[in-house]
Amino acid sequence: MERFDVVVVGAGPAGSAAAGRAASLGLSTLVLEEHATVGHPVQCAGLLSTGALAECRVSDRSVRNRVRGARLISDLGGELAFDAGTTKAVVVDRGELDREMAAAALDAGAELRPKSQVRRVGDGRVTVTGPAAGEVGFSVLVAADGPRGTVARSLGMARTPLHLGGVQADVVLREPAGTHLVEVYPNAAPEFFAWRIPVSDRVVRVGLCGETGVPELFSRFLARWPGGVVHRASGTIPLGTMPRTFGRRTLFVGDAAGLAKPTSGGGVFTGVRSGRYAAETAAECLESGDLSDTALASYEARWKGDFGRELAMGYRLLGARRRVTPGEVDRLLRAFGDPRVIRSIVEHGDMDRPSGLLARLVRMPALWTVIPIILRLGIGEILAGDGAL
Ligand SMILES: Cc1cc2nc3c(=O)[nH]c(=O)nc-3n(C[C@H](O)[C@H](O)[C@H](O)COP(=O)(O)OP(=O)(O)OC[C@H]3O[C@@H](n4cnc5c(N)ncnc54)[C@H](O)[C@@H]3O)c2cc1C
Repeated sequence: MERFDVVVVGAGPAGSAAAGRAASLGLSTLVLEEHATVGHPVQCAGLLSTGALAECRVSDRSVRNRVRGARLISDLGGELAFDAGTTKAVVVDRGELDREMAAAALDAGAELRPKSQVRRVGDGRVTVTGPAAGEVGFSVLVAADGPRGTVARSLGMARTPLHLGGVQADVVLREPAGTHLVEVYPNAAPEFFAWRIPVSDRVVRVGLCGETGVPELFSRFLARWPGGVVHRASGTIPLGTMPRTFGRRTLFVGDAAGLAKPTSGGGVFTGVRSGRYAAETAAECLESGDLSDTALASYEARWKGDFGRELAMGYRLLGARRRVTPGEVDRLLRAFGDPRVIRSIVEHGDMDRPSGLLARLVRMPALWTVIPIILRLGIGEILAGDGAL
């Protein structure tokens, strides 16, 4: 049986980041990907903060558009718009991004086997189907297998508590439209939000996420944008992290561990960072010869120290979001439209770590008119409980 120091299941951004880092640390590294082509099918809106794109350590080749801000629209008249005047986020072709990240992992020395689906994980070995079917041995397994979580299920590990369904389509517009602002429609998808992301002046990516009634909500939302639908995609976002992201010589990264941000569903930034932490933990454990759960636990300490508080708070804010009525969304957006609030959003907004901005905003006198809503939702307690206030 072949053996590798590190076997990575899944060649998404988290898996490729883990594989590239592991190989660059001198570990023999194999990536097993079930699809024939990396990055296909795409299940992502492709909106990344400039910081998240930088984390991916790729060129600008996958970038299709650059955005400077957002418009949040309640559908009841209330609106909040801000334009930072400088690029805050990019819209990428996720297929292209994933392929470039996988290529970087290969350049670093990792081996990639496409058409290789991991079916089962045993003691230090995975069972693979496909042209290279058989068993492969590992010292450390990195589960980067995304929302379906085959590795977690095979090992009997507790999974993430919440799975949101997402649907989106690219629409070719009849008339050219602006390309600088992303639009967000909270009331079009009351359990999360709907989005309209400009890919170019002629193409917008419209979609939404939720737990219930997603196809019906999406049909209604799509009907707002007359034009030709050129591409449809759907997927799942697991939210709320696994209770334990390590164990039995396995480290869970990215969506496999439920590391997407609960406030936005964005999972590339945390996925890539968790992948690198997993590789570094694997290298240390192999160096010391200690592959016990106690040694692997340092992986979880690493990602928690980086963005664990942000995820925990985001999960509680998502709970609050689901208690807001459409009328309250409208009132909040009107209040947030105050120029002082907008200035603060532009100056302090960070897509990847939004809690700092929120803590700053709830203290602003301009928002005192909506204090009853903020109190009812328990936003203050959530922020204070996590030390952000
Ligand atoms: C509709 C929608 C829109 C989104 N929009 C955004 C966005 O705008 N910005 C953002 O940052 N995030 C977004 N996300 C979330 C983002 O797509 C994920 O968080 C991200 O892809 C996670 O990366 P990953 O590498 O952990 O998993 P994935 O990208 O899911 O990669 C997992 C890989 O593992 C492979 N695999 C799975 N099981 C096996 C197996 N048993 N054997 C071998 N290979 C296997 C899969 O084929 C896949 O290639 C969106 C998600 C959805 C559903």
